[in-house]
Amino acid sequence: MIVTLLLGLQLAAAPPSVVSARAGTTESVVPLVETSTGRVLRLDRLAPALPVTVRAAGPGQFVASVFDVTMFLSDQVPYARVGTSLIPLGGPPMMDRGALLVPLQLVAEVLPRLAPSRLTYDPVRSELRVASASTARASAPVAPRRAKRRVVVDAGHGGPDNGMTGPIGGRNKIREKDITLAVSRELAKSLRQRGVEVVMTRTRDTLIGLYDRGPIANESGADLFLSIHVNAANLRWRRPGDARGFETYFLAEAKTEDERRVERMENEAVRFETAAQAPKDDPLSFIIHDMAQNEHLRESQELAAAVQSGLSRVHPGPSRGVKQAGFVVLTTAFMPAVLVEIGFGTNAAEARYLASPTRQREIAEAIADATMSYLEGYERRLGSAGR
Ligand SMILES: [Zn+2]
Repeated sequence: MIVTLLLGLQLAAAPPSVVSARAGTTESVVPLVETSTGRVLRLDRLAPALPVTVRAAGPGQFVASVFDVTMFLSDQVPYARVGTSLIPLGGPPMMDRGALLVPLQLVAEVLPRLAPSRLTYDPVRSELRVASASTARASAPVAPRRAKRRVVVDAGHGGPDNGMTGPIGGRNKIREKDITLAVSRELAKSLRQRGVEVVMTRTRDTLIGLYDRGPIANESGADLFLSIHVNAANLRWRRPGDARGFETYFLAEAKTEDERRVERMENEAVRFETAAQAPKDDPLSFIIHDMAQNEHLRESQELAAAVQSGLSRVHPGPSRGVKQAGFVVLTTAFMPAVLVEIGFGTNAAEARYLASPTRQREIAEAIADATMSYLEGYERRLGSAGR
């Protein structure tokens, strides 16, 4: 009696050496590896019982997908990024001969929380149970696939953040936040007329934090993100009032001094936000932002090129080209995203041009046309990739 009891206790206390996923009669069993930071496993080996894929996204970086949940994981970084949230992990993921090992807690706690209608974890059997889609649908209806394209239009600045004011030496001052709102409203109207759903980050003179604009875009489930801004010359330039023209940015590291100038200027808006709104300045969030954005880099560049060539058909100023910089507003949007500087408010003629409602409509129409041609191209690219 006593012997049996002791044996039983010992068995209960011994940690499981494997973890399994079960879907009906299909079972995948994966060994657990003991490490100094806890037990880890090869997540990809839980397939096929668990519909999981893990792929490398860069040195020490991985993208893991389970159902429609996409997780970004980094070697030795004890967080998973899902959408815009960082989920703490029981220990850091690690690499073993090029493969990714994740903490058991990711399987036992994180995944069931992310896909509650499909996954439950049984700690006694050390088993992840995978419900079939039909069972899951009964408990959690799946949203029907949206046929309509959806675009986020982001009017730069707002509220206490005026953005740039200009022109230099001119009397009829313009404020960037007013111009961006007017053009964004016209852009939203034009896109809606073309059958696109539009989500605006702001429709009034309010301050939306830079770090909040991206999440608004992500939660809307939009296909792409357009941020509208007005440029300002550097006062240290030889004849700053002369600078004019339009340029479109996609997210990447700024390469030239001019790109860094615009990057600094647009990221400045952070100082209008309270400390609580802006995430801590830790390198981690940038690592993970980077990873998510890389997927959209090429598409963002395509979109930027389309916008730039669309604007060149109506805009009198010179085309300053497609450029790249690290804008906060773009790093937090996990979709193809561009920032358009529609002209220099510091130049007297261009400030007049930007303030004209007729010209604002023209600019908006040009950007809307470019967006449509980009979307058509995108669908073609998707279609040919699928064949
Ligand atoms: Zn701006």
